Amino acid sequence: MRTRYVNLRIPTEGNDTDSVELVVEDGRFEEILPADSETAAGDEHWVNLDGALVLPGAIDGHVHFDDPGFTHREDFASGTAAAAAGGVTCVVDMPCTSLPPVTDTDTLENKLKIIAPKAHVDYMLWGGVSGNMMTDSRWRKKLSDLVDSGVAAIKIYMLSGMDTFRDLTSGEILDVLEQTHRLGIPVGVHAEDSSIVDELTRRAAERGEDSPRAYAASRPPAAEASAVLAVIEACRATGARVHIVHLAAGEALDAVSAARFENLPISAETCPHYLEFTIQDFERLGSVLKTAPVVKGEVDRERLWQGLVSGEISFVATDHAAGRWPEEKETGSIWTDYGGVPGVELMLPYLYSQGFSTGRITLQRLTELVSSEPARFFGINHRKGFLRPGYDADFVVFDENDRWTVRASTLHNLNRYTPLEGRELTGRVRATYVRGQSAFERRLDGSEFFAPAGTGEWVRRGLV
Ligand SMILES: [Zn+2]
Repeated sequence: MRTRYVNLRIPTEGNDTDSVELVVEDGRFEEILPADSETAAGDEHWVNLDGALVLPGAIDGHVHFDDPGFTHREDFASGTAAAAAGGVTCVVDMPCTSLPPVTDTDTLENKLKIIAPKAHVDYMLWGGVSGNMMTDSRWRKKLSDLVDSGVAAIKIYMLSGMDTFRDLTSGEILDVLEQTHRLGIPVGVHAEDSSIVDELTRRAAERGEDSPRAYAASRPPAAEASAVLAVIEACRATGARVHIVHLAAGEALDAVSAARFENLPISAETCPHYLEFTIQDFERLGSVLKTAPVVKGEVDRERLWQGLVSGEISFVATDHAAGRWPEEKETGSIWTDYGGVPGVELMLPYLYSQGFSTGRITLQRLTELVSSEPARFFGINHRKGFLRPGYDADFVVFDENDRWTVRASTLHNLNRYTPLEGRELTGRVRATYVRGQSAFERRLDGSEFFAPAGTGEWVRRGLV
């Protein structure tokens, strides 16, 4: 079946848009033609989008959907429904917050079997290497098989906090990077210096401190910067492609930027909460904004926005990680409250509103940050991340002028809370299409449509 979407605009250069028609067949863009190219419908199905802005589907490169194992926090059905409602047509799920963690082909297959019937949007899966595996002499073989199976990238931690997926020592990191360099796959690093954080946490506990300010002080910018410098040296020593996940500190970005200037193969992502909030907000909001890394200062926040504009930061991802609400977020102590915020549904509207509408980033840069750059990083830029003929017809119909107020109760993930509660945003997702199929629609009467679970497909790294 051939469908022609007419009366719409797509981003071109800067803030410009072109009026075009999108012809979709067999889940792909068949043609992208100037407006009014065709007058006779023939046997095509026509859809009039009333002049709406159409964006490439967003790719959230960093989500924790916790399935299987921690489905009281999120599961793949609720997580991908939230993604669809937020204009995210492909999520890349982390290996560390499901049980068993995805560290070999058996655990990968087990996870795929469980999540496939639940997916509302397409998905890729990170593989991981944890400290728990390092005593197994077969870890190199397991890693190599995992990469051959088509995982998106490999995740490691310098500071984990999870018994089921422990962090690596500096020596182990060098070992892993030697392997990934050989295998030709990037490594995402949670970069915080465990010796700094552990020591400062211990001292705060000794003093009996228990506040957002104390938690933030235990994870200072220096902990991030020190870890990033260590990653850069490991990158230099091995030549491995590395990526700093959820970068939050200005100093850490300075270090990444200097390394990129030397042509080292390193990149970074940041998250909406680091672009929006500071420690002052954390003191005001409490655990609802507890994350690791923690939000930093106003100077850091401004530096991150600057990094998005300049290209020093490659893309934005959410680090979507929801704890059971309110139980795990209100344990009575900042130290035991769950660290993580849901975000997949708000990434695109947030960046459109606070990035593009405020004039900080262009429309073109917006689509790079959430679509084309993550597609490039995960090796799927030959089929996703762009509105181009031959590409998967993943796209979002966006209401540019819809001013709306974020309410956690109207989100679609399992545990509904957000530090953005009450925030007014300009621009909202009206409909989301995955490979030409409607995945989500917000109708004029306020009702919502979701395609059945199981319509999302697994996307392997690099495959045509
Ligand atoms: Zn994460």
